[in-house]
Amino acid sequence: MEDMDFEGRIVAPEFSSDADDMENSLRPKTLKDYVGQEKAKENLEIYIEAAKSRNESLDHVLLYGPPGLGKTTLSNIIAREMGVNIRITSGPAIEKQGDLVAILTNLSPGDVLFIDEIHRLSRSVEEVLYPVMEDFSLDIIIGKGPSARSIRLDVPHFTLVGATTRSGQLTAPLRDRFGVLLRLELYTPEELAQIIKRSAGILGVEIEHEGALEIASRSRGTPRIANRLLKRVRDISEVKFDGVITQEVACAALERFEIDELGLDDFDRRMLKTIITNYGGGPVGLDTLAAAVGEESITIEDVYEPYLMQIGFLTRTGRGRCVTKLAYDHLGIPFSEPIQKTIF
Ligand code: ADP
Repeated sequence: MEDMDFEGRIVAPEFSSDADDMENSLRPKTLKDYVGQEKAKENLEIYIEAAKSRNESLDHVLLYGPPGLGKTTLSNIIAREMGVNIRITSGPAIEKQGDLVAILTNLSPGDVLFIDEIHRLSRSVEEVLYPVMEDFSLDIIIGKGPSARSIRLDVPHFTLVGATTRSGQLTAPLRDRFGVLLRLELYTPEELAQIIKRSAGILGVEIEHEGALEIASRSRGTPRIANRLLKRVRDISEVKFDGVITQEVACAALERFEIDELGLDDFDRRMLKTIITNYGGGPVGLDTLAAAVGEESITIEDVYEPYLMQIGFLTRTGRGRCVTKLAYDHLGIPFSEPIQKTIF
């Protein structure tokens, strides 16, 4: 479909420069405006207040959860609430030890250093980080061969905020050096509707509550997708309707994008159908499934599965992935109970 080719997968939760160009303007700036994630917010509020009252930098924070749930947004809010500057980088961007040293030696006391995709740091860069996280000192080797010597540099007390899609991808020594571990959860449709209405206000789009809820329930629990769908629905509502996003307008627009009432797109349906037709509904191993649908295992695990599991369409068992009766019903495929093997 033309719309899908233009931007790739419209319900992909990862950042896309084409589809998410206005993301920064939609980011909430304070904890108060940050919708949902009550548990993480409550914990953060306490830690921030305690650090501020002691006049110390905040302990290092690890944020983990699927893409598009608000990890970058939250790290910006942490810096703002602490009244400090933020420096943003990512695991793959820090190629050499020297890159990290350059970043660290340019920090000011209290600053937040945000490292997105922190699980993708190379081992040698990670090793530089350990003593820095622990006692804010940096051992660097100057020179080569017999004349090489090591000098110790102090770096300002800063807060490292790391983001990863799964804390399990992190090495244990790195994970253990974070004082605060916060897991972000998928959002409920009501929370997403609140985010959509707030974004509509910023974009100057008129939207009815039912319209917002319709978009929300197809956004896979993910604010980035919710904002992206809002912008696409706005285009249709302006061109084909009178510009107000009602439930009817939202439904008509989302149908055009082939996103069904649960937010599933072509790929989800294909993956579920593959498990059903090729593997009798499962269990099928992750790697086998990945090869069958032509996607990387890690992408299936981090991007597609969390939502399909949340809505009860997919389960993970010791022997692989299984499609549930709910998914059969949704796809209109007759469900037959798996044949129980009885051992005599
Ligand atoms: P991540 O870093 O986890 O991939 P981002 O922080 O970049 O996600 O968030 C993606 C988009 O979703 C941002 O544009 C932001 O405006 C919006 N967003 C995320 N979380 C929230 C929230 N809790 N409340 C309002 N908007 C949010």
